[in-house]
Amino acid sequence: MSLKLHNSLTRKKEEFVPLEDNKVRMYTCGPTVYVYATIGNLRAYVFSDILRRALMYLGYDVTQVMNVTDVGHLTSDEDVGEDKLELAAQREGRTAWDIARFYEDAFFRDAEKMNIPRADIVCRATEHVDAMINLVRRLVENGYAYETGQAIYFHVPCFTDYSKLSGQSLEDKITAVRAEVQEDPEKKNPADFALWFKAVGRFENHAMQWDSPWGRGFPGWHVECSAMSMKYLGDTLDIHTGGIDHIPVHHTNEIAQSEAATGKQFVRYWVHNNFLKVDGGKMSKSLGNVYTLSDVEERGIKPLAFRYFCLSAVYRATLNFTWDSVAAAQTTVNSLYAFVREAKRSGATGPSPEWTREYADRFRESLEDDLNTPRALAAMWDLIRESNRRQDFSVLAVLYDFDRVLGLDLDRVPVEEELAEDYAALVAERQKARETKDWARADEIRKQLAEAGILLEDRPGGVVWRRAEG
Ligand SMILES: [Zn+2]
Repeated sequence: MSLKLHNSLTRKKEEFVPLEDNKVRMYTCGPTVYVYATIGNLRAYVFSDILRRALMYLGYDVTQVMNVTDVGHLTSDEDVGEDKLELAAQREGRTAWDIARFYEDAFFRDAEKMNIPRADIVCRATEHVDAMINLVRRLVENGYAYETGQAIYFHVPCFTDYSKLSGQSLEDKITAVRAEVQEDPEKKNPADFALWFKAVGRFENHAMQWDSPWGRGFPGWHVECSAMSMKYLGDTLDIHTGGIDHIPVHHTNEIAQSEAATGKQFVRYWVHNNFLKVDGGKMSKSLGNVYTLSDVEERGIKPLAFRYFCLSAVYRATLNFTWDSVAAAQTTVNSLYAFVREAKRSGATGPSPEWTREYADRFRESLEDDLNTPRALAAMWDLIRESNRRQDFSVLAVLYDFDRVLGLDLDRVPVEEELAEDYAALVAERQKARETKDWARADEIRKQLAEAGILLEDRPGGVVWRRAEG
């Protein structure tokens, strides 16, 4: 095993060595469940899934923990604004609890469609408030945190390594934060961030609140990830994933809280995925391009084609989503499935021939090189090309092996091609037309399908179809 990963902490590609043998303790920042996940969010989870699958493929024993943020994430990551869950509850006329469960379910449905299995442990913030209170208490006791009338804050200047992940100096950070409205005059330093919000003032009627040593209130967003990751994985994690947007605030704060509490290194490898852009720009409500998986499906693109699209770029690069590029991914997946179907039909099962080894090696080496999925896909396509050239189709075992990482459901590709839905509907309509002896309509549909390269044949058992040659 010689996996190399780019570590955001050292800004270098490093050899990955877990803390203990081949065990990997991995934490993934999960969704804030107040809206449907965007395709940009989903890219991040395809990435953490590929990382987890690649680790397992390379022989590591992985424990992945993912949180579900169902309280405490304010509209600004810098403690300003309202709780996103509460705002959604007002918007939709439901309780914050209903909102959280509804969008959590929606998230996992999307994830399932994209072949992203659940983490080994999925933990909700609202079910771990005790662990968070304990962590905050430790920070107050050891002098890193202080209480005001409104909140408990982490005092950033106490923690000397605060900038180590972001590389942003404390002065710059303070300047950046000053732009936001300060809502608590007792805050000692503008860079200080809330660990616990008291149910007073703007949060007096916060729907989700708990008892704490500082009165009733609710946890800040950053503290949940520290408390839950350390609860399940110990004080030091091997890998922490998330989007690069989390580096300057959320992950920087996670490090400060965790390391100030334990005195130990919190995370050994920080691995961040880059953004997904739409038509070369940012996704934004005003442009109407904040797409969800349902939007993608409505355009006839299958979730696994979107997954393939995500794999077509390295995770550290921005990925540019356009309807053309994702449609191209669908076409590519269709050809991949067509090949798999061909190989299944040929009946060439059994051990993989020796000539496939070089492609399997390339596939593995591409993953080992900081999860270079485009190169891994190229190795797969070269294997397919070579298989066609040799007319040797006994490569399914190799493809299924690759699919442990790619997650494209290759073993489930049906031997018989299914007719696309709109064509299937036409075939059904033609059947009806024949039953009512509307021969003109039946003929018209037959012609229409023939133009699309689909030939119908009426047999005693019903109609069968095949593709026109060439
Ligand atoms: Zn997090």
